[in-house]
Amino acid sequence: MREIDLAFIRLHILYHASKEEVYGVGLVKELARHGYKLSFGTLYPTLAKMVRKGLMTYEARTVNRKQRKYYRITPKGLKELNKVKNKIRELYEEVIVER
Ligand SMILES: [Zn+2]
Repeated sequence: MREIDLAFIRLHILYHASKEEVYGVGLVKELARHGYKLSFGTLYPTLAKMVRKGLMTYEARTVNRKQRKYYRITPKGLKELNKVKNKIRELYEEVIVER
């Protein structure tokens, strides 16, 4: 996967985790909607890295006898998301709106 796609994917994950709890299969579906074919082999290390950086936390729960990790954004992750939002706005205005 290209580095820029991974960056966009991380942003999607951070954003969605700020709105609700997210989990692996749900994220793969959501990202497929945006045209990203994400394998679990890419997704789980990405999530683990975000947890290590303190941007997300997770809670393991058993649903239908399956262990599932539910991820949420942390206060640090929210701060990061807000910073990035400003950058996205700036980039959008320059690259798309061309003002
Ligand atoms: Zn999304």
